[in-house]
Amino acid sequence: MRNFTYTGLPSRIVFGSGTLGAVGDEVSRLGGNRVLLLAGPRLENLVADLTAQLGTRVVARFDGAAMHTPLEVTTRAMELAETSAVDCVVAIGGGSATGLSKALAVRGGYDQIIVPTTYAGSEVTPVLGETVDGVKTTRSSADILPETVIYDVDLTLDLPAAITLTSSINALAHAVEALYSAERNPVTDLMALEAVASISRALPRVMADLHNTDARADLLRAAWLAGTCLGSVGMGLHHKLCHTLGGSFGLPHAPTHTVVLPHAMAYNAPAAASVMERISDAMGVPDAAAGVYDLVASLGGPVSLAELGFDTESIPRACELATAKPYPNPRPVTPSGIGGLLADATSGIRPTANS
Ligand code: NAD
Repeated sequence: MRNFTYTGLPSRIVFGSGTLGAVGDEVSRLGGNRVLLLAGPRLENLVADLTAQLGTRVVARFDGAAMHTPLEVTTRAMELAETSAVDCVVAIGGGSATGLSKALAVRGGYDQIIVPTTYAGSEVTPVLGETVDGVKTTRSSADILPETVIYDVDLTLDLPAAITLTSSINALAHAVEALYSAERNPVTDLMALEAVASISRALPRVMADLHNTDARADLLRAAWLAGTCLGSVGMGLHHKLCHTLGGSFGLPHAPTHTVVLPHAMAYNAPAAASVMERISDAMGVPDAAAGVYDLVASLGGPVSLAELGFDTESIPRACELATAKPYPNPRPVTPSGIGGLLADATSGIRPTANS
């Protein structure tokens, strides 16, 4: 048997269809009177809806959230929050809008209501990644965890196919790494396996019909479960590599997860055979790593880091950064092992459990 520790996360989750209409009540529930509205791009209609709903309680709006939460953007938004004397942040959008909200909350102590429109899962984690001078570092604290998350499946129906696919694999990565985390426990195992099964079943249905509300709801629920795993237990090699590639090489977050995940799984497979078996069973495929690669490839997603703009000359620097500090991972992380993994991911070959 394995000993374990489990701490539940105290977020309030509102899930459903039409739940965007609950934002006003949820702001009142938190006692918010002066709201800063953070919105990701392409969400003008939703912002108009929220502005009408919250009325004069919206005292400021900031639209400049950027991927990997660069410090200079946070500094500008923080100035606005302070001069507007806000007491609550409402963020609508993907993980970039959520990241900025968390960065403000940890500095200013604001309550947060997050309305996610992707499957990134950041809204249910007490983790904040920030980028300063090209280096991304993460920290974790109870102040970072949003008070309330409002999932509205309707908001995901227009999420473009490419983002739908890569963001879902980002969620899948949280579940996969939770299953072999040193801190895993029976609750995260249940959530992670359900997320793996749900994503592998729902994603092809959503990609065949982006407006399939039931399948979209399955994906969003899985993203919540996977994000909760991410917020509850430590991640391993895959997340470390993606942070390095995103923070120091400017690669896009979700597409990078999509390319790297099967290779990180293949690397860890020899040291986590029983976990990979549980994942392959949940997905209904013979091999977990190859199954994830095939899922992505069959749906037209990115399979190589080269197509995201990464080149082989950058591999030594990426290895150096990703192995600079030790971190728990099922299989020991060595520069030559990571070099091989990155070479495979850069070229985009189909991984196998023994690669
Ligand atoms: P994102 O927020 O940048 O969104 C990706 C793209 O999707 C953007 O172009 C955005 O405009 C578009 N988009 C979002 N919702 C849309 C919608 N409904 N319709 C049309 N377009 C829409 O990217 P992301 O992948 O959601 O999040 C990535 C960021 O989140 C990174 O900075 C990453 O580090 C962070 N993240 C943090 C955690 C954590 O726990 N700290 C977890 C996951 C991700």
